Amino acid sequence: MIDVDTIRADFPILQKKIHGKPLVYLDNAATTHKPGAVLDKIIEFYTETYSNIHRGAHYLSEEASAAHESARETVKNFINACDSREIIFTRGTTEAINLVADSFGRSFIKEGDEIIVSEMEHHSNIVPWQLLCQRKGALLKVIPFSDDGVLLIDKLKQQITKRTKLISVIYVSNVLGAVNDVKEIIEQAHAQDVPVLIDGAQAVQHIPVDVQDLDCDFFAFSGHKIYADTGIGVLYGKERWLDDMPPYQSGGGMITNVSFHKTSYAELPYKFEAGTGSIVAAVSLGAAIEYLNKIRLENISSYEQELINYATKEIRALKKVTVYGENIKRCSVVSFNLDDVHPYDAGSILDKLGIAVRTGAHCAEPVMQHYGISGMIRASFALYNTKKEVDRLIEGLQKVQSMMNP
Ligand code: PMP
Repeated sequence: MIDVDTIRADFPILQKKIHGKPLVYLDNAATTHKPGAVLDKIIEFYTETYSNIHRGAHYLSEEASAAHESARETVKNFINACDSREIIFTRGTTEAINLVADSFGRSFIKEGDEIIVSEMEHHSNIVPWQLLCQRKGALLKVIPFSDDGVLLIDKLKQQITKRTKLISVIYVSNVLGAVNDVKEIIEQAHAQDVPVLIDGAQAVQHIPVDVQDLDCDFFAFSGHKIYADTGIGVLYGKERWLDDMPPYQSGGGMITNVSFHKTSYAELPYKFEAGTGSIVAAVSLGAAIEYLNKIRLENISSYEQELINYATKEIRALKKVTVYGENIKRCSVVSFNLDDVHPYDAGSILDKLGIAVRTGAHCAEPVMQHYGISGMIRASFALYNTKKEVDRLIEGLQKVQSMMNP
């Protein structure tokens, strides 16, 4: 069980009033707010420890490097990677996927090869692969989903061929909230020696993730969606792949020796961390995970499940509403439309009532194309949301309906 009142008190911004009304923040799939533990850590780090890392022999540099590496260790334990060498800090999920598309792509993708994604992907798990396929003359294949929001994994067996070199799929859909059976996808892929990247941007903050148990080859997520600062993300990769992949960006920090004759690269994970990264954001990610560890992700998961079930039931009970993803195992996100109401109008009216939802295509235009629409209203939940806030959303949506369709 979690004590949501205590948790809410940890997040200073939740006390804020918007247009004179208490904030109801339901845009957590876009980004989450930060608890005092993370904010305090950022200030403490800047005031006590800050320096550049892995560079100086001086006291602050050593302290800052130790804090940065301790955050890496915290991430490693959080997703149960074998070794912290497999944890690469990036700017976010987008950069993590671009890193694999670029580096894995250079080593392992040739003309005529195939990469498989799903129809449910965020743009950041589509466009990097499209660009790679254009560069290499490779083919991008797509696992479709059914109208009720379920990925048609049984089609995967026929889609994988001898030319398939990678499958990259979303764990939890940022639009539908569908929790995809990634374990089954990974098993099917591995049966044919195909590695799998999991976009975990909407998963790690809601579902306990064990990369060894999943047996995924790569796993990407963003710090800012898991209560840490922006500018930090994680690429987990199995050492056997990362070892065989060339550097992504190059410069300081990723080398052992440089001469005009020959340059040698640093060991993992530093080979993939060129230049000064988001040092403080990495430390904030460690603090955010420690905060979640104290509450325990299992408790967060079951609380959020209750909340999303309640929200989905109440939204479905509205008149003239379409909820997308009727038949899914749902996690933290529900997207819907009200008949004869443009999602943007709904979002603007809700905003005036202090309720923050996301409207539009949610960086997943193929999902909109699937349903033949231009946008949806999305409510997405975090550990600090409450049933009372769901009730405020429902009242708000009823007001939208009465204003737009009197
Ligand atoms: N994948 C998914 C499923 C997402 O929801 C997002 C962010 N909305 C991303 C990737 C991209 O994350 P970021 O912008 O933090 O790189």
